[in-house]
Amino acid sequence: MEKETDVIIVGTGAAGLFCALQLPERKKVTVITKDEVENSDSFLAQGGICVLRSEDDFDGYFEDTMKAGHYKNNRDSVAMMIRSSGEIIDLLLKYGVEFERRNGELVYTREGGHSRPRILFHEDITGKEITGKLLAQAKSRGNITIYEHTEMIDLLCKNNICYGIAAVDSQGEILPVRAEHTVLACGGIGGLYRHSTNFAHLTGDGIALALRHKVQLQDVNFVQIHPTTLYSEKPGRRFLISESVRGEGAVLYNAKMERFVDELLPRDVVTAEIEKQMKADGKPYVWLSMEHIAKEDILSHFPNIYRRCLEEGYDVTKECIPVVPGQHYFMGGIQSDLEGRTSMKGLYAVGETSCNGVHGANRLASNSLLESLVFARRAALDIGLGEIPDGSENRETGHMLKKVSAAQEPEECLFQPENYRDMKKLRQENRELVQKEIERMRKEYEQQHNHEIKCG
Ligand SMILES: Cc1cc2nc3c(=O)[nH]c(=O)nc-3n(C[C@H](O)[C@H](O)[C@H](O)COP(=O)(O)OP(=O)(O)OC[C@H]3O[C@@H](n4cnc5c(N)ncnc54)[C@H](O)[C@@H]3O)c2cc1C
Repeated sequence: MEKETDVIIVGTGAAGLFCALQLPERKKVTVITKDEVENSDSFLAQGGICVLRSEDDFDGYFEDTMKAGHYKNNRDSVAMMIRSSGEIIDLLLKYGVEFERRNGELVYTREGGHSRPRILFHEDITGKEITGKLLAQAKSRGNITIYEHTEMIDLLCKNNICYGIAAVDSQGEILPVRAEHTVLACGGIGGLYRHSTNFAHLTGDGIALALRHKVQLQDVNFVQIHPTTLYSEKPGRRFLISESVRGEGAVLYNAKMERFVDELLPRDVVTAEIEKQMKADGKPYVWLSMEHIAKEDILSHFPNIYRRCLEEGYDVTKECIPVVPGQHYFMGGIQSDLEGRTSMKGLYAVGETSCNGVHGANRLASNSLLESLVFARRAALDIGLGEIPDGSENRETGHMLKKVSAAQEPEECLFQPENYRDMKKLRQENRELVQKEIERMRKEYEQQHNHEIKCG
């Protein structure tokens, strides 16, 4: 694996791959993933991707996103995401992504929290369709190299400037990868939880390194629990029953087979009601019924859910399935601006690992693939711009635009292999670091919130 590159991207999900594709082709781009290239949450996305269908839906889409986020969202980020959605979909179509069509026209569905249908989908494997096509494009580009089973274990940085990363490659060799720009696209934190829809290897590594190197974080107490994952006694990743199932008419029942909640309320509200109901019923699940959805619609729109539930012994066209809330998405992350820049020069964060405030306290369904793509593209364009000027500092942002060379820095300050002798211990410490910070911020937020309530 090369030790010098122009841009190192950590993560082969939608954010990492899209960023790589949007960078100028003259840049040498190295993309790494700690697992196999298809094993990212982006491949798991079922429901779809939002888009602004016409100008008259701007206010509605904006309000739905803000309302779901409890108005804790950054309004500029929300507006930027919505305004950019059309061009992102055009780019995806150009890359060969296929969305559901009827008579040649795109079909839009609806999910919880959306006042109108504005979600494009591909059966119930939208993430696989999008990310698979991005991956194929990336593999065809001469300037992009992807390394599997290669794990970022540290940032190479000094005086708040990032010069690349330290990684363990697929042979177990620990090496520095120096780069002008470093992009963290390393996804969420589900691997830290017992019940999660995420891949277990997504353990918030970027967040841990940000904590170690004092890179600013934001909203790390905002963790989304998805109301409906398929209940199972087996350990491992929980299978998601997409919100669009409820959008198309599925209902929730308690142990007495009575409805107990409006199924299309935002995720956190539905989750809270399910948890209350499970307690009242004394059961570790509630029931989800698709009886109101026509069998042919289940088979055509949700073939993956149909198949997977059958494997678990449930025929969703005939019977209810047990569902339970599970960790699903991380709204917080490494603080980033609209260009994906972090508080450390030369370091960018995009996708689920970043936080530009677009989701506020709770993500609106199907906004995250879009958010990942919009801000990954903006980061790539910003990086592309960085090479034009003459080596001076960007006055507006304070970000280094000159080619930073790690060789200018004393070697021992940047890459210290002796720090990484006990990888097992390091990984465990990183997990604990992130868990403690989430807990600390959660308590701080609760205290603040209670204080606000008391003070009116
Ligand atoms: C079951 C499920 C269904 C979903 N459905 C939808 C949906 O319908 N619509 C929607 O908009 N969103 C959906 N989401 C959310 C969405 O899929 C993710 O938020 C989004 O894809 C995140 O993309 P990402 O590129 O930031 O991260 P990911 O796709 O998770 O990619 C992270 C990458 O980082 C790599 N990585 C992590 N740490 C390291 C390290 N230390 N070194 C090297 N590599 C590392 C991983 O191996 C992986 O390649 C869903 C999520 C799940 C789990």
